Amino acid sequence: MEETIFADNIHKTKDFLGHELSFDCMGCAIANEDIMVPGGPVYRGKFCFLASDPEIPIPGFLVLNAKRHVNSFAELTLEERQEIGDILARAELALKRLGITKEITLVQEERSAHFHIWIFPMQPWMIQKFGTGISTLREVAAYAKTHATEDTIREVLDVSSCIRDELTERAAL
Ligand SMILES: [Zn+2]
Repeated sequence: MEETIFADNIHKTKDFLGHELSFDCMGCAIANEDIMVPGGPVYRGKFCFLASDPEIPIPGFLVLNAKRHVNSFAELTLEERQEIGDILARAELALKRLGITKEITLVQEERSAHFHIWIFPMQPWMIQKFGTGISTLREVAAYAKTHATEDTIREVLDVSSCIRDELTERAAL
């Protein structure tokens, strides 16, 4: 696997619970569960892995990681694309059914070495503070990191568990 390329390039960061994370490639480490994301897995697929973002505590903010170390949709196989598309749609439906957001923004950048999609639940406070549109997301994320309270963190963990239940209950639909 390509991960060995990064063998001498260990990165370290802290998740929003204060645990130190150490990895070659964050996407591989999350998808293969070498590191534990706060709240645990929301969905474990054959080809992808869905969980809260480990560093940015926003309730309902999810990251969908491919299990393979590729960096674009075009490099995914048909089976991988089908599962990823399905989980994406089901995660969006869960966020809306649970009343977490009315509007979702998806972000996928080939600039990142490991394929992942941000599933970003837009919320009124973000729009009030930073305005609308994709250009505000970095500011929103930075603000969420520095302003999270214990209540926010509890809510992130609760919401992640509610989405997991919702996806499990509706798995056959
Ligand atoms: Zn990777």
